[in-house]
Amino acid sequence: MFDLASLNPQQRDAVAHTEGPLLLLAGAGSGKTRVITCRIVYLLETRQIPAENILAVTFTNKAAREMRERVVEMVGKKATKGMTIATFHSLCVRILKSHIERLGYKKNFSIYSAADQQQLVRRLLRDEIADATGKDAERILWQISDAKNRLVTPSQFRSHSSDPTSCMTGLIYPRYQKELKAYNAVDFDDLLVLCVQLLEQHPDLLEHYQQLFRYQMVDEYQDTNPVQYRLLKLLAGGHGNLCVVGDDDQSIYGFRGADVETILNFERDFSGTRLIKLEQNYRSTGNILQAANAVIKHNRKRKEKALWTADGGGAPIDYLICDDDEHEACQVIERLHVERARHQLKYSDFAILYRTNSQSRAFEEQLRYADIPYVLIGGQQFFDRKEVKDVIAYLKVLVNPFDEVNLLRILNYPRRNIGASSADKLIRHSAEAEEPLWLVLKDSQQVAELTTRTHEAIGAFVELLERYRKKFQQPLRLSETLQELLSELKLAEEIYRQENDPQRARRRVENQEEVLNAMASYLERDPEPSLAGFLDKVSLLDDEGPQRNDKEKKLAQNAVTMMSLHSSKGLEFPVVFLVGMEEGFLPHKKSIYETFDIDEERRLCYVGITRAERQLVLLGAQRRRKYGKLEQRDPSRFLVEIPEDVLRRSSAGQPSASTPEQEQQSASNFFSGISQLLGDD
Ligand code: ATP
Ligand code: MG
Repeated sequence: MFDLASLNPQQRDAVAHTEGPLLLLAGAGSGKTRVITCRIVYLLETRQIPAENILAVTFTNKAAREMRERVVEMVGKKATKGMTIATFHSLCVRILKSHIERLGYKKNFSIYSAADQQQLVRRLLRDEIADATGKDAERILWQISDAKNRLVTPSQFRSHSSDPTSCMTGLIYPRYQKELKAYNAVDFDDLLVLCVQLLEQHPDLLEHYQQLFRYQMVDEYQDTNPVQYRLLKLLAGGHGNLCVVGDDDQSIYGFRGADVETILNFERDFSGTRLIKLEQNYRSTGNILQAANAVIKHNRKRKEKALWTADGGGAPIDYLICDDDEHEACQVIERLHVERARHQLKYSDFAILYRTNSQSRAFEEQLRYADIPYVLIGGQQFFDRKEVKDVIAYLKVLVNPFDEVNLLRILNYPRRNIGASSADKLIRHSAEAEEPLWLVLKDSQQVAELTTRTHEAIGAFVELLERYRKKFQQPLRLSETLQELLSELKLAEEIYRQENDPQRARRRVENQEEVLNAMASYLERDPEPSLAGFLDKVSLLDDEGPQRNDKEKKLAQNAVTMMSLHSSKGLEFPVVFLVGMEEGFLPHKKSIYETFDIDEERRLCYVGITRAERQLVLLGAQRRRKYGKLEQRDPSRFLVEIPEDVLRRSSAGQPSASTPEQEQQSASNFFSGISQLLGDD
């Protein structure tokens, strides 16, 4: 039976309040996520609720996995069988896989990546503006995504548009949506939009899922956007057993349509809501908490909270003023060595957090140079690489031949005598005959303008795809079949032919081989593997990247973590380096000059500060290299908001400017727990 004794009285209340809506509104590190995991265990053990009736939604795959692991640790694997712990997107894929046919799509639908979306919008845009750029397509896609997140349909969008980009979006959005459907494809936002449509239009399905997910929990609720909110509202209809936990001060996805009002209005939207606040922080030292509270206090619209800790003050917060990018990275490495030796820490106790992924490069270089293992979360994703996308495009077409974007990508890759002008003729014919490109290819004789050689090439291409489609139907041979396909296509030879630098060519070929490894590790994990299942997994990858194999997992267990502030949400590390504390990075320059919101930047800073358990080190450079030139930088305005008495400033190479009291406090409090444990002095 679950023992509530490990929780404080408010947490206990939240865990035991299982019927009816519950809002847990609390600051960072106060145990919100812990309440969710304990609540799941309480439902299973004390209330004897069947696992399949429990739904927990978290923000990232990593968070979902960690939550599952924690529950498994407490109740064992068997007891959790059938339970759903998912991200919004993976939950929706699951629902759509079973019922998307009711919306006129086929079961083997493709999930379009950002690159697939770009291809499609660029093609549609070219019909309107001959010299449209990638940036134009990006802006339009941004608006389409924003519209979908707010549940604005193509026809509704048209009537609201006024500025030039919006006008263009008004034109493209309906056509984009129509093409997607013709290709039997959905984009990432559609996963949610279609799920909402499905449940709204089919009361039997709605009832089924309301009954199935009788107990629902949502972590990081402050970042839900309107379409996610709508989905929750539908699923929780009837029983209203919805427990959401969040912190309005950590709302950092406003730029993607998340609305902090959603959390503030929860009580109004769900009548009979029980509100519970948590105020004790169990994560950070007093100094870290004081700094966090002082910074966030400057935001205007927020629910006042009194976050406190029973922990002592701890070490002061260090602010290291560095010369430039390289110096900043060196300072981090130097400090990391010192802390690790002094407090016997593992590399995995350290995190380097930054505002934008491009800041990671200098740190990566220095970490490699110092031979320190690290994991980089986010950045250029493995599956975004051209050569990897080429392989995935083949797989997508093998599952769904109507996926025209990917069909066109592989039509003449590797080169097989179906050049650009032949492709144009095929596309034109397909449009005029209103026949999917795949069917035109299967019967290409109807396109009279093509040469015999091209007809032959198309015939061979269709034959290859048909043959491999059959082969891939054997789930246990997925890896072997992929291997066979890669060698039959001679993609490696094509890469060596196109790439001048042999080393780069080799790396690109290795990347393609990595897809094989990803497939093999998928096969190990999925009890009912299929090619479509593999592609779903790939599409749903977020910042975390591909699932690691055992060797990589072991390596990651003792590696420094590097990631953006956005990715760091919900996590905690004994030592945090928050780098680039400068105007332009944090707050980001877009928030200063454009539409981004300074308050949201401050919340990001608050998220960063509150990731630290024992030691927080802030760094900033006085100059940065930009396009080969050195540019002067100003310290972040958020630094000024941190009280001087908890901040220890030191300039490059100069002795620390801390007071003797601070030093003493640091020596006595800092890591005292760990030191005692390890018998350190
Ligand atoms: P965030 O806002 O950053 O997501 P959170 O509110 O979800 O934070 P948790 O991650 O659940 O906080 O908890 C922070 C830390 O405090 C964890 O290490 C957790 O195990 C610990 N903790 C939470 N509640 C208690 C408690 N009652 N006693 C001891 N430790 C606790
Ligand atoms: Mg949390």
